[in-house]
Amino acid sequence: MSHFIDVIIPVPLQRLFTYSITAAEADFLKIGMRVSVPFGKSKIYTGIVFKIHNEAPGVYEAKDIHQILDDTPIINETQLQLWQWIASYYLCTLGDVMRAALPSAFILESETIVSKNSQKDIDESVLKDDEFLVYDALQFQSSLKVHDISNILGVKNALPIIKRLIEKEVISVEEEVYEKYKPKLVRYVRLHNSYASEVELHQLLDDLSRAPKQHKVIMTLFSLSATSKKPVKVTDLTKASEASSSIIKALIDKGVLEEYYIQIDRVTYEGDENEATKRLNVHQENALKEIKENFLKHSVVLLHGVTSSGKTEVYVKLIEAAISRGEQVLYLLPEIALTTQLIIRLQNYFGEQVSVYHSKYTVHERVEVWNNVLNNSHKAQVVLGARSSIFLPFNNLGLIIIDEEHEQSFKQFDPAPRYHARDTAVVLAHMYQSKTLLGSATPSLESYFNAQQNKYGLVELNTRYNNVIMPDMELVDIKDKLKRKRMKGHFSDRLIEEMTETLSEGYQVILFQNRRGYSPIVECNTCGHSPQCPNCDVSLTYHQYRNQLRCHYCGYIMAMQDNCLACGSPELDSKGFGTEQIELEVKSLFPDYNVARMDLDTTRGKYGYEKIITALEQQEIDILVGTQMLTKGLDFRNVKLVGVMNADNMLNFPDFRAHERSFQLILQVAGRAGRTDVRGKVLIQTYNPHHNILQQVSTNDYMSMYMEQMDERYNFKYPPVYKQIKITLKHKDYQKTEQASIWYGKSLRHVFGDYVLGPESPPVARIRNQYHKNLLVKIPKKQSLAKTKEAIIKINNSFFSIKDFRSVRVVLNVDNF
Ligand code: ADP
Ligand code: ZN
Ligand code: ZN
Repeated sequence: MSHFIDVIIPVPLQRLFTYSITAAEADFLKIGMRVSVPFGKSKIYTGIVFKIHNEAPGVYEAKDIHQILDDTPIINETQLQLWQWIASYYLCTLGDVMRAALPSAFILESETIVSKNSQKDIDESVLKDDEFLVYDALQFQSSLKVHDISNILGVKNALPIIKRLIEKEVISVEEEVYEKYKPKLVRYVRLHNSYASEVELHQLLDDLSRAPKQHKVIMTLFSLSATSKKPVKVTDLTKASEASSSIIKALIDKGVLEEYYIQIDRVTYEGDENEATKRLNVHQENALKEIKENFLKHSVVLLHGVTSSGKTEVYVKLIEAAISRGEQVLYLLPEIALTTQLIIRLQNYFGEQVSVYHSKYTVHERVEVWNNVLNNSHKAQVVLGARSSIFLPFNNLGLIIIDEEHEQSFKQFDPAPRYHARDTAVVLAHMYQSKTLLGSATPSLESYFNAQQNKYGLVELNTRYNNVIMPDMELVDIKDKLKRKRMKGHFSDRLIEEMTETLSEGYQVILFQNRRGYSPIVECNTCGHSPQCPNCDVSLTYHQYRNQLRCHYCGYIMAMQDNCLACGSPELDSKGFGTEQIELEVKSLFPDYNVARMDLDTTRGKYGYEKIITALEQQEIDILVGTQMLTKGLDFRNVKLVGVMNADNMLNFPDFRAHERSFQLILQVAGRAGRTDVRGKVLIQTYNPHHNILQQVSTNDYMSMYMEQMDERYNFKYPPVYKQIKITLKHKDYQKTEQASIWYGKSLRHVFGDYVLGPESPPVARIRNQYHKNLLVKIPKKQSLAKTKEAIIKINNSFFSIKDFRSVRVVLNVDNF
């Protein structure tokens, strides 16, 4: 009898590939093991065994595999089941899923580039001869392709050797390797507390009168501590008192000054005693009880808890209970919210049981976490991870927590699989018959809708921990301020007043400017109106090259206007303004304070983001200007004022979710203000203080926002009422893209009628020399999703059978964001 396996190969081809194996191999192989297989003329790939059987493929002769790479499966059957669900739900291939799911070190292929692992000293004596050859070659060349290594070794298949070298941490698969973050220690000084009383202090100053330089240092220290409540850094004191470091050292040696360090080691867990988890207050206790009760009836529960209500501590209790039952826990967060603040908090409770799975970690670290999860190791009972951690090989998953569940970054945009990690996690939890807790201060309409439909349980937590009052929200009408000449650049007199006061009290300020402020939306300088699409509830986008205003959802077009359609003013502005400009303005308005900026540009470096957060925590920054990066679950003690520079450009963003997003963003950023005993203040500058969303934000009225937005989603057939699939066609030739999209649109309309929108050009109609056209299929709840997808795939197949269209790229995006 002949033996065969079907293998998943990480290529975007729809089918599996069948290879021939020997009877002995058939005996040894299990589903989920890796094999290296020949592919095409000369390529070698790593494949995953999907099926073991005895049926020869009908149309081609099965090749032999090269080698078996594992002794035991690296993925389990449940994972394969999840992969299949993703491939079918998100309309992509198993190969696409495989590439996203496995750490890159697991999918070696002939084109993979490997390099020496410079992080580790290698004991050459542990290397076998062939391993040493590779190691040695990498001393002379910084990197090698897998097939180069095959040539060096004179073997057809080098993958097993490379795999062993990776396991011995001799080599790394090429990718950006991030160093662990070790902040430098910052040295501070204060007066020794033996001089705390007036009398002793006078005595000291008398004594020092004969040492004028030392005297000056002490006086400078007083004035530095008086002007701000911040700790005084040695470097600042040296500078301000013009003293040399030896004078300061002399004072420290004498015991007059005391030096100390503020140091936060952000990543590594030092293995200290674990802290006991916190005692919940009565509100948290109730929430916890309700969550547990809801879990009896629902597999998914949504925890809607205002910012700073102590949701994390509630999660901690659930995690504690799950791991004491021996279950694994996945704690899923948007990449950017996966801060070291949170990692440390959890490590304090659960010590080395916490593992972090993050794209910024090295291959070795990721492989380690993977193996720990696979072996159900003590070290990975709780995995804190970003999107891709849903692919880890859990075997005893008891609980999934998805914090900041409203975050759009849970959806992978490019490349395929274009999956939503929250929605996929719910499916995953279902496969393990475990529970999912979604948490947010500003739930997505999707999740809240599911709760309203009784699909999910709902638990509310409405008081902030310690009864800290919600920040005081004030809307500032910039149209009025402009008229009365009360604006300096983008700053209203109110904002300047509040900033001045906050800073003089020694507190910090956060200024929020939406990244999307750059979008070319036309806005009237006089009344703030921006032209809207008559068919959809979105603003029109300015297209400069044709001088047109367009709707990106229905393709509605109108000529760019010379005068405002609402008030007739000729002062139309099509530029947004960004963080950089705000930063410049702040610097000139507040020259005596330290200003920093947090956006994609300033956080690009290795630890750019961590550095800014640390500086803010250590109060080296007085004013931080930033984009939505600021909104993510950070807990700053000393921030009292948050200014939203312009709420309108968020509200006017041409997307049906713009209003929901604005509500979420503003409330999240407002949540950064006043998290301790002082009440925070939030100033929102806008042309439209009467805009419903802003009224709802300023009264923290989620329910009104939800009802109103849902009305619109019903009326305009948007999610969560309708599902939608977006189809994007791309080609370098404009004509071809247009023809192809017209053909595709016609075929879709033939089946789905009016539920098809487009084709239309996106605002950026050409990206990397490819023209884009979008089509949107709206799917009513009662229509079968599976049948809809079947129909789309059929159209897609006919499309590619047309010779002219074969070179067009088609992207299918299910539940697009
Ligand atoms: P959220 O996640 O809802 O924004 P957090 O969990 O970050 O809120 O809690 C806000 C602050 O309150 C944190 O500094 C946290 O340590 C503190 N806190 C919350 N619950 C407790 C508790 N039960 N005991 C002590 N401190 C708590
Ligand atoms: Zn106007
Ligand atoms: Zn429209």
